[in-house]
Amino acid sequence: MKKIILFIFSFSCTIIISAQDDVEKVISTLTKNEIEGHIYFLASDELKGRQTGSPENKIAAQYLANMLRGYGVKPIPKVNSYFQKVTLQKTSRATKTEFKTENILSNNILMITTENTNYKGKAVFVNYGLEEDYKNNNVKGKYVISIIGTKENKDLRAALSKTKEKMKLAKQNGAIGMVEISTIDEPTWVKMEHYFNGDKMNISGQKKDNDGFSYSWVNDTKEEISKLFIENLEADINITIKGIKESAIASQNVIGYVEGSDPKLKNEYIIYSAHYDHVGIGTAVENDSIYNGARDNAVGTVTVLSAAKNIAKYPTKRSALFILFTGEEKGLLGSKWYVNHPVFPLHQMIYCFNSDNGGYNDTTKATIIGLNRTTAQKDIVDAAAKFGLTAIDDPAPEQGLFDRSDNVHFAIKGIPAPTFSMGFTAFDDEITKYYHQVTDNPDTLDYEYLFKFFKSYVLACRNIANNPTTPFWIEGDKYYEAGKKLYQK
Ligand SMILES: [Zn+2]
Repeated sequence: MKKIILFIFSFSCTIIISAQDDVEKVISTLTKNEIEGHIYFLASDELKGRQTGSPENKIAAQYLANMLRGYGVKPIPKVNSYFQKVTLQKTSRATKTEFKTENILSNNILMITTENTNYKGKAVFVNYGLEEDYKNNNVKGKYVISIIGTKENKDLRAALSKTKEKMKLAKQNGAIGMVEISTIDEPTWVKMEHYFNGDKMNISGQKKDNDGFSYSWVNDTKEEISKLFIENLEADINITIKGIKESAIASQNVIGYVEGSDPKLKNEYIIYSAHYDHVGIGTAVENDSIYNGARDNAVGTVTVLSAAKNIAKYPTKRSALFILFTGEEKGLLGSKWYVNHPVFPLHQMIYCFNSDNGGYNDTTKATIIGLNRTTAQKDIVDAAAKFGLTAIDDPAPEQGLFDRSDNVHFAIKGIPAPTFSMGFTAFDDEITKYYHQVTDNPDTLDYEYLFKFFKSYVLACRNIANNPTTPFWIEGDKYYEAGKKLYQK
């Protein structure tokens, strides 16, 4: 009896000591000043918003690589460099967009597909462009004209989500192009135009899914075009979209690793990742045109740097792979590239602990998108609690955040991959005030809070990387089966 009590006592003592050890290790490698230094540099005006493909994006990459070098993190094996080249293709904005029918002329064209177009000929009105609308219409070899959305739903988001289906139907019925008529207010139109018609990027060699089919929206606030087509059902149109050009862009992910300390567990890797690019220079607001991206995602970048510094000094049982992605803002391109060009086999990557940030509105919390979707949940909750923060899961699942950051490419492959973010409890004004705005500057951040936030992340990294049990998806998760396949469980 006595012996047992003694045994239990000494056992719980070791646990407390080792846990304390990890907390001390975290505290010993992180300082608030150093964190501020990184963020002020990465989000400085001189880095011009770190747009993918820009010289300043390369400077940011060079800075990160040299931080890893300084910490003693090893470069990518064989190539002996911290840079993974990512080859992208840029599609530039059209120089001319014009739609004409009868005596109506409009330059308000929104490109649903990005395609140089020159069409002069017949266009047939197909109502909302849904299945039943093609029943009595022969559209073969002609353009189709329809109204955006559906009769029941005039919501813009819903209308946009219908475009794929509508394009498919038009193609199936033999149409050669499609124009939809919208009546969108000026301020919303300007924003949408900026997003849809602006420069676009993709992984080089990627095939577009429209195969040359041209599809655009024409804004018709006076409702002249719709009136004409509703009355006549068919009319001649002339649509010109020209000047769209493709060019190659070279960018880079920044990668390094630290070997684990346990002879067996070191064959398992944990990925610590964040994107370091941001949206660059854009529309000026109060004479400021630099979108600095302090929250998005200098903060995430520094969470990874903090983990790299700590783990390089005090290696964990499992190995660590640090990846700083480019191209996130262009469509999660750096991470997409990485999962198709991994530097170590993907089945050895047992977890991906990503960090991405839009903003925060609660400095008592850390918000982990996907917290309750993997078995590492407790390791993260405990770590945050050690530094006075409460870890919570996604407060706005309807936004689909889990599938909107770099972690998703790893999840699709089966790797458990949540995203660690600053505390937010709703997508409210406090978030939108800074999210992708010129106001996302380093001097608007609460560094006392960030210091706790970074320490929580690094301790969570250590907890997961030292835990004898390998983390996995919770049974029934969307990506559970993919995980079983990847690890042959
Ligand atoms: Zn962003």
